[in-house]
Amino acid sequence: MLTEKKHTEPNQFRIAVIGSGPAGISAAISAAAIGMEVDWYDKESRPGGKLNDYHQLFPDREFADLVLDDFTGKADSIRIKKHFGTTITRIESANGQNVLYSNTEVVGRCDSVIVATGFDFFDARIKEEFGYGIYDHVITSPDLEKILKTGHDQLKKGGIAPESMAFVHCVGSRDQQIGINYCSRLCCITGIKQAIEIRELFPSCKVYNFYIDIRAFGSGYEELYRQAQEKYNIHFIRGRVSEASENQQNRIVVKAEDTLMARPLKVTVDWLVLLVGMVPSCTQVSVNQAQCSDPETGFYQLQNPFAGSGLEKPGIFSAGACGGPMSIPEAAASGRSAAIEAWQYLTSR
Ligand SMILES: Cc1cc2nc3c(=O)[nH]c(=O)nc-3n(C[C@H](O)[C@H](O)[C@H](O)COP(=O)(O)OP(=O)(O)OC[C@H]3O[C@@H](n4cnc5c(N)ncnc54)[C@H](O)[C@@H]3O)c2cc1C
Ligand code: SF4
Repeated sequence: MLTEKKHTEPNQFRIAVIGSGPAGISAAISAAAIGMEVDWYDKESRPGGKLNDYHQLFPDREFADLVLDDFTGKADSIRIKKHFGTTITRIESANGQNVLYSNTEVVGRCDSVIVATGFDFFDARIKEEFGYGIYDHVITSPDLEKILKTGHDQLKKGGIAPESMAFVHCVGSRDQQIGINYCSRLCCITGIKQAIEIRELFPSCKVYNFYIDIRAFGSGYEELYRQAQEKYNIHFIRGRVSEASENQQNRIVVKAEDTLMARPLKVTVDWLVLLVGMVPSCTQVSVNQAQCSDPETGFYQLQNPFAGSGLEKPGIFSAGACGGPMSIPEAAASGRSAAIEAWQYLTSR
């Protein structure tokens, strides 16, 4: 039930949505549907956020392009004014009015703001021992998504299908050494989905997943994990990878410890895929010159993790993965919820 309305015309309100990933799209569509005038910003020239570079989505394997077309089609509203190619750097908020800046230039004024600036992929070069940026055949999960999207022949060597591939879980997550203690929540299921895709494309390719423990929390995730083992015969090895190196045949030698069997292990593979975690975006927006992030994780601090919004700044709400790792349906739900909260705030102040 929405709160009591003090203004009769909801469309007298102007709201800015910063970010056009799943959270921002959903926030913009919902705000327009409620009747607010929406100024929609993204630093990129096209909407979609990370969805632009994904191939198939877990757990149902829908094509990301189709999901994105469906999302953006719904955002074609006369109430939504697009300002793509604009990076918002800060918001100055006073007396219920917000001024948006792109560096020193004022680019907009509004009654309320939804910040949906998303996340960055962990920079795998920081974990030097895995050889990312050093060996050509060490790639990350977002790199593999792009390859699967643009043409999997890139995974062949001299036209020959790969014989083996390994995935390393928890790269840049749950790692005290680099000060990132949280679990990124979605890399296990990404690794399971990508491993299945590889087995379908190259049925003779052996696939190994090195994990600490599997966290498959969402609807349909556990089923996909089971399929990966029973139908696709993917080898899940509970173990920590200590290092990767390249041999003379340009193959990758992976050294690990099998923690279930308590023995060292060495496998040689054609490709090593690092399942990188989700870290705070480097293009976060400041409010009144202050950062609004959690000192522990660096993500925006959420007042209400269930609603997924509330930067503890009146009239400014956050949505999506700028508040921490979450899936596309969760990000979209938090975008909708932020739009409703913004409207409640505006109509009750
Ligand atoms: C490898 C990998 C695969 C994944 N696959 C799936 C999957 O199959 N299914 C699933 O449910 N989830 C998946 N996820 C999670 C998914 O990526 C997130 O749930 C989703 O991207 C979150 O959406 P968002 O809108 O919060 O952020 P993003 O998608 O990161 O979008 C943020 C937007 O904000 C813009 N922006 C950032 N800063 C500014 C600024 N200062 N000014 C203006 N614009 C700005 C960016 O350009 C971007 O367009 C995956 C995650 C990873 C790591
Ligand atoms: S989701 Fe899985 S791979 Fe990702 S950090 Fe959590 S346990 Fe590690």
